[in-house]
Amino acid sequence: MNRDLLKRLCAASGAPGKESDVIQLVRDELEPVADEFVTDPLGGAVARLAGDGPRLLLAAHADEIGFIVSHIEEGGFLRVLTLGGFDPKTLTAQRVLVHGRDDLLGVMGAKPVHLMTDEEKRRPAKVEDFYVDLGLPEERVRELVRPGDRVTRERSLDDIGDLVSGKSLDNRAGLYVMIEAVKRLGEHACDIHAAATVQEEVGMRGARVAASRVRPHLGLAIDITLANDGPDAKPHQRVTSVGDGAAIKVFDRSAIVPTAVVDHLVALAEERGIPYQLEVMPRGGTDTRELQLAGDGAIAGAVSIPARYVHQVVEACHPDDLDACVDLVVAFCETAQVLVQDG
Ligand SMILES: [Zn+2]
Repeated sequence: MNRDLLKRLCAASGAPGKESDVIQLVRDELEPVADEFVTDPLGGAVARLAGDGPRLLLAAHADEIGFIVSHIEEGGFLRVLTLGGFDPKTLTAQRVLVHGRDDLLGVMGAKPVHLMTDEEKRRPAKVEDFYVDLGLPEERVRELVRPGDRVTRERSLDDIGDLVSGKSLDNRAGLYVMIEAVKRLGEHACDIHAAATVQEEVGMRGARVAASRVRPHLGLAIDITLANDGPDAKPHQRVTSVGDGAAIKVFDRSAIVPTAVVDHLVALAEERGIPYQLEVMPRGGTDTRELQLAGDGAIAGAVSIPARYVHQVVEACHPDDLDACVDLVVAFCETAQVLVQDG
């Protein structure tokens, strides 16, 4: 695993609608190896590796869940709205970055336990219970921050045993896999378009734009999936397990992957000795949906990276799974044209 690249991707901030720092990293990595590198009006980017065959669109989203400042309150405290699905209890005691005129370190403030009523202790936390404290006087805050500025989570990527853990592995792990796969690509018949999509966490908006422009015959989304493999999960609740290999998506709430795509990915994994597992995810959605619904419809599936604690600041993946996903995406890019020819 190219740990340095994954660290740089995770360290970058990219709340929905403000993904430019992440896109710049993608540009640095892929523009030198691409035949063409273009950006779109929403801020997404596509690296093309030209081929004579069918158009294959890879999609990995560049954004991460974050917040948008709605109000600056008396005392200089910020109220925020969420961009993407947060579990409010995970906001307690978090450091955040407020992307105002400068990047400012802040904390998610809330009432201390000493002052909570019994009723407040019993009820689940709500996003509205929190505010961002920048530790600055109101006047200074108003100079540096305005409504609409984004707020992202602050946490470094670190090794935890055999795993890597930090913020925004959803979906920098997927971007990492796409970048490494594109850089390693050998002979390919497909006309490959590798898209770093934006605003996935607020409804797969960037993927729609990328897919409308590329009009792919084939698609492959690359995103994390749930590894519900902790001690409290019953066997039938385990979507995937970390360390068991690349997850081949079969189903989520946004897309049913055609059997031919699943079978092709499984055959590739078995032929090339790539560890894999099948992913049937009872909830959630990915860019896979927009790839499938593009134009007249595309043959599209997804390769997913198993991740624990998704949408928290301690998301965790196994480096071996990342390597397996890179191998599988490379294999798919080199062979996907058969899915069109067979069809
Ligand atoms: Zn994601």
